Amino acid sequence: MVIEAIGFDGDDTLWQSETAFAITHDRVRALLASHVPRDVLDAQLLETERRNLEIYGYGVKAFTLSMIETALDLAGEALTAADVRALLDAGKELLAHPVEMLPGAEDAVRWASAQGLQVVLITKGDLFHQESKVARSGLGELVDAVEVVAEKDVATYQRALRRNRVDPTNFVMVGNALRSDAAPVLELGGWAVHVPHPLTWALEAADDEDALRASPRFREVPSLIEIPTVIPTLDH
Ligand SMILES: [Mg+2]
Repeated sequence: MVIEAIGFDGDDTLWQSETAFAITHDRVRALLASHVPRDVLDAQLLETERRNLEIYGYGVKAFTLSMIETALDLAGEALTAADVRALLDAGKELLAHPVEMLPGAEDAVRWASAQGLQVVLITKGDLFHQESKVARSGLGELVDAVEVVAEKDVATYQRALRRNRVDPTNFVMVGNALRSDAAPVLELGGWAVHVPHPLTWALEAADDEDALRASPRFREVPSLIEIPTVIPTLDH
């Protein structure tokens, strides 16, 4: 097998994430229903998140601040202190939300480890929250390294792989996001296995998805349960 190391994304690859965001988003819609129409809120929240990415980065704390900013922008003086407190509470609940593993996640990581592959969990978001999720997932002991990164671009992967002494051409990244899990790894000469998640965040869509899918080093599987069948088929 040419593959010597395997990276797993965390959110919406090994464990559910966007489902909890969606529940919180619904609560915010309900909370602000008297102030603003739902579609206006949705569009404005996404725009605020996009704008704030380079200031706050990814994760629940960034989402919470973007919720409050959006509410203030849309409701203005009508927003009450109780509303702001409810938004903060929604964010805290999201941080405390139990880690729900996706089907086949633990088996896939155990399988990779048993194959002698170097296993690296590469996840982005709040350092504190991501480390807490890794700990609660129970996978921390099964992987060789955990990389919590602020952004998943070519430079970040390059640094993370170098730190772990992994040659990109012998590396496969498994994840749900084409933009952050597949594109940069393919660009580095590595391999990518896309495991789609129905709720992938709108800001994770890639610009050139057809080109990514056409790469000979790209595979797509319906779930992590397929990992033991797809990884051994990757070769030059
Ligand atoms: Mg993900």
